[in-house]
Amino acid sequence: MRYGIFGDVHANLQALQAVADGLQEQSVDELLCLGDLVGYGADPAACIEMVRAMGPTLVGGNHDWGAAGRLQLTYFNPAARAAIEWTRATLDRETLDWLGSQDVLTTVGDVTVSHSTIHDPQLFDYLVTAYDAYLSFRHLTTPLAFVGHSHVPATFFDGNPITPCYDTVVDLAGRRCIANVGSVGQPRDGNPLAAFGVYDDATGVLTVHRVAYDVEAAAARIRAAGLPDILAERLHLGR
Ligand code: ZN
Repeated sequence: MRYGIFGDVHANLQALQAVADGLQEQSVDELLCLGDLVGYGADPAACIEMVRAMGPTLVGGNHDWGAAGRLQLTYFNPAARAAIEWTRATLDRETLDWLGSQDVLTTVGDVTVSHSTIHDPQLFDYLVTAYDAYLSFRHLTTPLAFVGHSHVPATFFDGNPITPCYDTVVDLAGRRCIANVGSVGQPRDGNPLAAFGVYDDATGVLTVHRVAYDVEAAAARIRAAGLPDILAERLHLGR
């Protein structure tokens, strides 16, 4: 089985289209989506429609829950909050209810899917340090987990010590691990290219792919919507 893994789309339709094309080229059998379809970007409705049509196993993210009114907006910084309020005013009630109805953690066979952490997924903490991974490994009931939220690709291997790996091709065979494949719509690892992952459970290999997209068009959409300019600028920087 080849899994296509993607998340943190953040209403960036240009990036999502490029990732959907990339996933098609990789001929994956099953899609896992790590949440945060909305927030920051200017095409929430079109991105939701596209992801729903792709039919992935899906979890909700903090921006999805924030737009739906399931998470307090005090959680967010001012630019993120402005985008969530704009998103809430843009989407219809049915779509907002659908966003708010997504669980934040689910399992598919041997794989756990969570937007933030495994240990407290509804708190939306980041999983970026070995200690964060340690807490999550204690609650992990499957050999493998995919998480999003930090927008930085990384794979953590269980052990003593727990070690992070930032390679783009990683052999997961026979090991317990928690992997983040990066963000579709707002990368933060200094690389502005859209990110997604492919995991082949026959070989045990996880590959993080990066694809170019029309950053200028996505940034122009953000500016045209009247969203904070920083949300457009950061797409160019991948920060
Ligand atoms: Zn996100």
